[in-house]
Amino acid sequence: MGVKPHFLFSFRIAPDKTPIVYTINVKVVKHLRGHDMDLGLREKVALVLAASKGLGRACATALAAEGADVTIGARNKQVVENTAQEIQRETGSRILAVPTDVTREEDIEAIVTSTVRAFGHIDILVNNAGGPPFGTFETVGDVQWQAAFELNLLSAVRLVRLVLPHMRKRGSGRIINIVSTSVKQPIDGLILSNTTRMAVVGLAKSLSLELAPDNITVNNVCPGRFLTDRIRQGHALKEQMAQGKSESEALRSIAQDIPMGRIGKPEELAALVAFLASEQAGYITGTTIQVDGGLVRAMF
Ligand code: NAP
Repeated sequence: MGVKPHFLFSFRIAPDKTPIVYTINVKVVKHLRGHDMDLGLREKVALVLAASKGLGRACATALAAEGADVTIGARNKQVVENTAQEIQRETGSRILAVPTDVTREEDIEAIVTSTVRAFGHIDILVNNAGGPPFGTFETVGDVQWQAAFELNLLSAVRLVRLVLPHMRKRGSGRIINIVSTSVKQPIDGLILSNTTRMAVVGLAKSLSLELAPDNITVNNVCPGRFLTDRIRQGHALKEQMAQGKSESEALRSIAQDIPMGRIGKPEELAALVAFLASEQAGYITGTTIQVDGGLVRAMF
């Protein structure tokens, strides 16, 4: 964590009845004692897509809590602006909201330009997007394939293309793609995700090689099951609730095959993203790391 002020107050009454107030900056004290790791994100600028809710929001919050200025984008203007205000209040960092649909080239250009105009540069890109719809091979057609390609792959290609000159100018950069454990173990009924996210992994691996000489790292983070609207509105939870279970019973049921026995909290994924964005992660590139409570049975 960074060392932004985080105060605790206590007081006692002196013998002459004067109240004495003590103020302790807890984060600074922890930092000085070496209990906190400074991720070196103050003075950094991050761009996080699909960040008005869920995992993207948690990533933006974790980066801002470490002192980074953050631009967040998502389609719903009101929601993304409210989220920006909330993160700013929570962390004290500067948060810019830019309504953005990552499938629209002009929106991507606008969010990159607005970030540089507001904060001067870009050091960190978190590529995130909504997930493609559920479906099996025979239930999805060309329209859905094209849309999934544009949502999950082409958006990342376009964003990387536009942020690269800014990272090169800074002499370093961090690119982190939120994908899915579907790249390690296919998920039933999610053929669009299983396929398009593998393309993101291929892109990231190639980019990590091409951009290493520029001191730009490229990594993928794979969420297992996290409690966000994506899960709340997903067919697994709906199926369980259709059998008469409450939401918490249904969540327990869909966590049964997770070795840790529970659904993840978005901040648990965001912690890895903040670390991969940090100074300390400068030698980690080309990796694909799952955060899944042990869900994926694959060896790598
Ligand atoms: P979420 O809670 O539903 O949030 C999705 C976010 O993406 C919202 O801010 C949404 O805002 C934004 N968004 C959706 N489509 C967009 C678009 N075209 N352009 C810009 N922003 C867009 O979902 P989540 O659980 O955080 O999931 C984030 C990503 O992780 C998804 O790709 C999902 O498939 C993947 N994932 C999630 C889990 C999980 O357990 N939650 C597991 C594996 C993978 P607007 O609607 O306003 O645009």
